[in-house]
Amino acid sequence: MGHDPSCIFCKIVAGQIPCARVYETEHALAFLDIGPLKPGHLLLIPKEHHATLPELPDTVAAETARLLPRLCRAVKAATDAEGLNVLMNVGPVAGQSVGHVHWHIIPRHGRDSIAWPWNARSYAEGGNWNRSARQSPPVFAPRADWEHSEHAPRTHILNWVRQRA
Ligand code: 5GP
Ligand code: ZN
Repeated sequence: MGHDPSCIFCKIVAGQIPCARVYETEHALAFLDIGPLKPGHLLLIPKEHHATLPELPDTVAAETARLLPRLCRAVKAATDAEGLNVLMNVGPVAGQSVGHVHWHIIPRHGRDSIAWPWNARSYAEGGNWNRSARQSPPVFAPRADWEHSEHAPRTHILNWVRQRA
């Protein structure tokens, strides 16, 4: 089984670092986040070391992700949550600070303090997808044909998946 001795979550799997375990199978482990956004904030990881989701083999993904619904039920019941955020950061640019695949399960209650800094725009608006309009040169420039329509990215994604599935 893939194990990275320098990885903090591999150390948790190996029992070298303590954690508040809540659920465990042969292939996956769920434990409380040490820096929770809310009490009950859970992390779910495959025991095998893989840095990011795109690298995760289908079987490992399936063995791990199948636990999400029951863990969601558990967190919801235990914290009286009205809803949850289930999310994963993929890569440092997206906020991933631990390089071992992990899902976050975060309980949500009305009027709690969590706010996501999403900055959604419509395709039709086109234009600026960067943090600051003043950034020069732009950090992210959409492909010219992607700017004003969802159809171009959709076609590219569809083709990629079809060719490799
Ligand atoms: P990321 O930013 O990579 O999506 O999330 C990593 C999460 O792991 C953070 O929420 C952080 O609080 C949590 N974390 C980091 N180190 C430890 C640890 O040693 N034990 C536990 N239980 N959580 C950790
Ligand atoms: Zn690891």
